[in-house]
Amino acid sequence: MSSESPLWENPLRDSADRRVPRIAGPSGLVIFGVTGDLARRKLLPAVYDLANRGLLPAGFSLIGYGRRDWTKEEFEAEVLDAVRDRVRTPWRQAVWEQLAAGIQFVKGDFVTDSAFDDLAAMTRRMDEERGTGGNWAYYLSVPPQYFSEVCNQLERSGLADSTDGWKRVVIEKPFGHDEDSATELNRIVNSVFPESSVFRIDHYLGKETVQNILVLRFANQMFEPLFSSGYIDHVQITMAEDIGLGGRAGYYDGIGAARDVMQNHLLQLLALVAMDEPVTFSPDELKAEKLKVLKATRPVGPFAQTTARGQYTAGWQGSEYVPGLREEEGFDPASTTETYAAATFEINSRRWAGVPFHLRTGKRLGRRVTEIALVFKDAPHQSFSPEQTEAQKSNVLVIRVQPDEGVLLRFGSKVPGSAMDVRDVNMDFSYSEAFTEQSPEAYERLILDALLDEASLFPTNEEVEESWRILDPVLNYWATAGRPEDYESGTWGPSGADRMLSRHGRKWRRP
Ligand code: NAP
Repeated sequence: MSSESPLWENPLRDSADRRVPRIAGPSGLVIFGVTGDLARRKLLPAVYDLANRGLLPAGFSLIGYGRRDWTKEEFEAEVLDAVRDRVRTPWRQAVWEQLAAGIQFVKGDFVTDSAFDDLAAMTRRMDEERGTGGNWAYYLSVPPQYFSEVCNQLERSGLADSTDGWKRVVIEKPFGHDEDSATELNRIVNSVFPESSVFRIDHYLGKETVQNILVLRFANQMFEPLFSSGYIDHVQITMAEDIGLGGRAGYYDGIGAARDVMQNHLLQLLALVAMDEPVTFSPDELKAEKLKVLKATRPVGPFAQTTARGQYTAGWQGSEYVPGLREEEGFDPASTTETYAAATFEINSRRWAGVPFHLRTGKRLGRRVTEIALVFKDAPHQSFSPEQTEAQKSNVLVIRVQPDEGVLLRFGSKVPGSAMDVRDVNMDFSYSEAFTEQSPEAYERLILDALLDEASLFPTNEEVEESWRILDPVLNYWATAGRPEDYESGTWGPSGADRMLSRHGRKWRRP
């Protein structure tokens, strides 16, 4: 990216003036679930940072909707408390005061019609007082069972009516819990908002390193020709967390690692790493390629051998002894919800035929890391003797999504000395060392994109349904396959996960 490009903008934006920072036009944001964890930790700080970077209009309005008995002043104090220590840009009192002037709170739940009527009245008032122009984005940061209810209320109260200004809905994950429920949810959401006004959040797509997958592959010559079954033995996509469920045990029970992470983040990463080059990086062309590769993807069986799932038990997480899942408050000890999920997928295309994609995610694993590892086939002919190459493993290209964002290439090199011995070495590119620019926060980029009507970083209805279609057979198998295995906190998951790969002479990377 050019040094003139504003970092917080979406570099995929397909417009001639992409180096000119685009500021959101007259608009406002309503956050449903504004008292929740996500709003406090991510959404509210992102709004301040966008304002501080000068990317929001002067009359921007932020309306919180929730069940508390808050006045405007009390809500304002809550927002200040949430953002003060979390913002990424320097604190500027003048920016805060301008933002605070447009902050309002509407009290309500999701079933009371009059509360949504109050909200509609408030948006009209803001249109008059702040010049928001009837342009509103509704951010649904609420438990997923309320997504359709809130959409229906928005329609009933006239809040979704786009006659006088645009209306968009931003929806958090998880979007459905299987293909049927996602299709039904899409039907309801799309009956209120046209697909072009629906922005489904997969915050991984807002990450710099995820967008860099496209640059690595399509702006360079040296990688892309190798992304095929001719060179790649298999692909491992990992999202490991070191945290446990903590206070979120109640929410997580019944969802599990596969629905929470594999259906969205991991299959989106698979799509980006495996898709063909789009004609342009416009939302439509990107979607077409992602959808094509997702349609060609299916889970590989027999699932007893090609998948694994587990629940963490107590153990040492670094220097801390942590409780097991069944001891976590709010988690039903009889539950079979998994905190570790691994599965194998294949892509039925000429490019990827015969290359397994192993996806895994889990909580309380060895360390927090998200990466994509393309493990190469061995050289078809080895001129060096087995003794000389015995320390050499397969070549690997690793795209490190987080933390320590970067790209690593592992290959064999001659050990200095009179012998021709080969040992593996790493060529390592690190974002923090190569660039002085700070990576923007994913939610900042995504909220701005929704206000700008930039859809490239948001999965579409078809992508979401395809992802569930891919995962459903595995989920259905697990639903009848008894209890998940146990794995100790601080390790790399259940033994079944290791067996999944060792059956074919492969091993998971220890990132
Ligand atoms: P949370 O902390 O449980 O907050 C839920 C919010 O919804 C609260 O503001 C709560 O209000 C409100 N709410 C719940 N039931 C309600 C009802 N019947 N009527 C009115 N308001 C109601 O959840 P969260 O972690 O912020 O997550 C919000 C959404 O983001 C969920 O869809 C979640 O899956 C998704 N998400 C969260 C994260 C994360 O890091 N937290 C990450 C990815 C996705 P009260 O305060 O009044 O209860």
